[in-house]
Amino acid sequence: MNTSDVLVIGAGLAGLPTALACAQAGWHVTLVDENPAPPALPVDSLDQRCTAIGSASVQLLQRWGLWDAIKANAQRIQQVHVAQQGYLGSLRLRAEECGVAALGYVIENRQWVVALAELAAQHPNITFVRGETVVSISETDAEYLAVSLESGESLSTRLLIGTDGVNSCVRAQAGVSQNHVDYDQSGLMCSVAVSKPHNGVAFERFTPDGPLAFLPRPGNVMSLVWCMSPDAAEVINQASDEEILQRLQAEFGQRLGALTELGPRTVVPLIRFEATAQTGRRTALLGNANRLLHPVAGQGFNLALRDIAGLLDEMGWRTGNKSADPGSDEILARFVERRTGDQREVVWLTDALARTFRGRASLPAHVRSLGLLTLDKATPLRHAFARRTMGYTG
Ligand SMILES: Cc1cc2nc3c(=O)[nH]c(=O)nc-3n(C[C@H](O)[C@H](O)[C@H](O)COP(=O)(O)OP(=O)(O)OC[C@H]3O[C@@H](n4cnc5c(N)ncnc54)[C@H](O)[C@@H]3O)c2cc1C
Repeated sequence: MNTSDVLVIGAGLAGLPTALACAQAGWHVTLVDENPAPPALPVDSLDQRCTAIGSASVQLLQRWGLWDAIKANAQRIQQVHVAQQGYLGSLRLRAEECGVAALGYVIENRQWVVALAELAAQHPNITFVRGETVVSISETDAEYLAVSLESGESLSTRLLIGTDGVNSCVRAQAGVSQNHVDYDQSGLMCSVAVSKPHNGVAFERFTPDGPLAFLPRPGNVMSLVWCMSPDAAEVINQASDEEILQRLQAEFGQRLGALTELGPRTVVPLIRFEATAQTGRRTALLGNANRLLHPVAGQGFNLALRDIAGLLDEMGWRTGNKSADPGSDEILARFVERRTGDQREVVWLTDALARTFRGRASLPAHVRSLGLLTLDKATPLRHAFARRTMGYTG
């Protein structure tokens, strides 16, 4: 039987840094993913899903020795521009006034997975099992959990970490349910080629139908998340690329010049869900297995990285005094206690943004506009907001 200190199920955005950081500290890690191979890198530069990470997340990746493997394909965010379509109020956050080289970076999801999967496959403390999933979890004794894989192989671990995404089998096997909030919105995601350089500016526009975010990517390319009602998303997804580009240009204006080409599109329903418990017996849920947020503030993965850091720190990662039993009840209880405040705050903020800036009938537009204006003019408030956006807590 394969016995490890830490068993990570799911080698995606959250699972790979979790496994690598644990291995870096000297724990023996088994990493399992249902995909038989890492994703193929796209040939078309417009065929990419992206994620924005704040500078606090970059510091975590540096701490775990992973940033060098990722930074070559990451785009700096030098400025964030938030505005409400058709109203005066706007907010600008600039890296230099916040005293950082970049407010954050935009990473390309598949590049991230490919780069970190390569590191994991080579790491002497990681056994990487591909093309497998969990079929059952049981307690063998007080110190270990037994995990059976689909192939019949049995694994034994002190700490089981579920980073296996929204439909987590670890969460299901641990008997943990979820709470759902349906925002009655869908997100259209794709990349858009633009004629003017973006200069590292990320844009968030609050339109009457919902938020529209443009994240800068390497080259003259932006990554779009456009939130709207499910009916509107269905209609727009039936339209031709040319029609969508025209509509988008009308919504966004000319700041990026002409919007010239659209990459492959995906439409996803926007919901929030949270696992009713983030830990169980020798088990922790991280990333989407634990919580999925509305993408309006780009906080989901940043929060997940801070959760990973919180768990690692309770396991003794930072002090160098790593626990011989990383899955003990005490460590897991301390992890929950440590992380709950930040998690609640981010969920509240994201929820408030998703609801406040949605639709014509919610908070009057001029009040929202005034809020943005006030935030832009009041330096301490803007700096506090910037720190939160970059992922710094406290
Ligand atoms: C439209 C949109 C935009 C977003 N933008 C941002 C942003 O800008 N900034 C930000 O911070 N966050 C953002 N997020 C959130 C971010 O995408 C998530 O936090 C992130 O994808 C979580 O990654 P994960 O590793 O938990 O899940 P996933 O990336 O889904 O990885 C799950 C992994 O588990 C594997 N797996 C699944 N099931 C099994 C199984 N049964 N057995 C074994 N392996 C399994 C899969 O193969 C995969 O490798 C956004 C989300 C959305 C929807």
